[in-house]
Amino acid sequence: MDVDVDPDVTDGIEELKEACGVFGIYAPGQTVAHLTYLGLFALQHRGQEAAGMAVSDGTEIVTVKDNGLVTSVFDDRVLNGLPGHLAIGHTRYSTTGASTWQNAQPVTRGAAGHQIALGHNGNLVNTAELAVELGMLPGAGSVSCDSDLVVELIARSIERDDDRGDDRELERAMLEVMPQLRGAFSIVCMDEGHVVGVRDPNGFRPLCLGRIESGWVLASETPALDLIGAHFVRELEPGEMVIIDATGYRSVRAFLESEIDPKLCLFEFVYFARPDSNLYGKNVHQARVRMGEQLAQQSPVDADMVMGVPESGVPAAEGFALESGIPVGHGLVKNRYIGRSFIAPTQEARAAAVRMKLNPLKENIAGKRIIVVDDSLVRGTTQRTLTQMLREAGATEVHLRITSPPVMWSCFFGIDTGVRSELLAANLELDEIRDYLKVDSISYLTLDRLITATGTPLSGFCDACFTGNYPVDIPVSLSKGVLEIGATGEAVVDPPVRSGIAAAVAQRSEAAALGQLGFDS
Ligand code: SF4
Repeated sequence: MDVDVDPDVTDGIEELKEACGVFGIYAPGQTVAHLTYLGLFALQHRGQEAAGMAVSDGTEIVTVKDNGLVTSVFDDRVLNGLPGHLAIGHTRYSTTGASTWQNAQPVTRGAAGHQIALGHNGNLVNTAELAVELGMLPGAGSVSCDSDLVVELIARSIERDDDRGDDRELERAMLEVMPQLRGAFSIVCMDEGHVVGVRDPNGFRPLCLGRIESGWVLASETPALDLIGAHFVRELEPGEMVIIDATGYRSVRAFLESEIDPKLCLFEFVYFARPDSNLYGKNVHQARVRMGEQLAQQSPVDADMVMGVPESGVPAAEGFALESGIPVGHGLVKNRYIGRSFIAPTQEARAAAVRMKLNPLKENIAGKRIIVVDDSLVRGTTQRTLTQMLREAGATEVHLRITSPPVMWSCFFGIDTGVRSELLAANLELDEIRDYLKVDSISYLTLDRLITATGTPLSGFCDACFTGNYPVDIPVSLSKGVLEIGATGEAVVDPPVRSGIAAAVAQRSEAAALGQLGFDS
């Protein structure tokens, strides 16, 4: 993963961010708060800004959430104060709404004597439209993220329900509301006695069903099941809704058959999902090894050592080595405890920020021609610093191999790629990227080969950030802050951002005139 540090747009090390992990459990006879904690711990990689859970004993929901990691939000004292046999949980990274306590999830509402709690992974693209329809203009109420809107829609539907005495108000409300949403959503929702999981009709984000001795579990990824001793049952189908209650679990279709079009995010395979996750029935680690093999077939180069950029570049480096016969070695040591905690205003500080996370192993690098395998290249600032660090450590050549195609388009479905002006490949030609990063050669895996490497080439994938082919129509302009105070209720234009790449592009013609493309001042 390319790690970008840009003083104009971030407070420190910047990576592509996932848009949350969700978890749900219904287990009669068990106290599920501790199991939910473990499930969220397994999903920590999907969001590190905030964590929360809502727990019910059948009569009342208690919600605890806060900014921070799962381990800092919850301890035994907090968990022991959350009795109950059903729960949902959430780990958050913000793609709509600011990173504030108010936007931590689960979000909650009361409706017609019921309590509702909801956790959402993904990003809606009709947030502004829904807000206007609901008359919930930004700043006028407690709505500040798309998940607030969804729970509000559900609450209003429950209030309109004709109370058939069957205790299925939440199910009916979700069946009414889900088709109104557009974009990416894997949602877990609960009232006092039911847990519901649903995937959007494209299935952008994963969601799976598991079984434990006394009940059922929903989780973004399969390792959350492993950690609590649940066994994997199946992935929810795109457009499927599962309701779990005292009668067991039942599955219903929340969307018209004509709307179902599987488009799992390709980046889940490339970078986001844990290597021990299974997606479309295929192990993610093995898929990454195959990406490296494909890359070696596609773009061979003479070298002395292959090394992966930790962590998701490592299995691909193994695959590259297997296919090419070039030995794989460790060239970078990763500090796993790096956080987003400081500003990096100068090139020296940015290099220090990268070194805090990745430090070269000089003894393995000196005097060698190195192939560096990374999973993606988005903004590129860190890769440029990394190349410099490898050369300082004695590498005689640095050849960069990327296990995904060039990221040319912004993601609107829950991954924070940034705006197009920040995307390296959207602004520079391949040879310019090579020169900008100061590598000897560069190659991106083609889309066909990437999809082949997943091991499930006939399954549907979203590839919009590589191709611009968005599975769902995107409003002309969409911003993460669409519901923040000051917005108009209509889709807003991203504010101009002077990123490192944008600044580089601005200098491009001048640099070209000087015969330089290094973008150094
Ligand atoms: S645009 Fe890219 S990152 Fe976003 S969902 Fe599609 S494949 Fe994933």
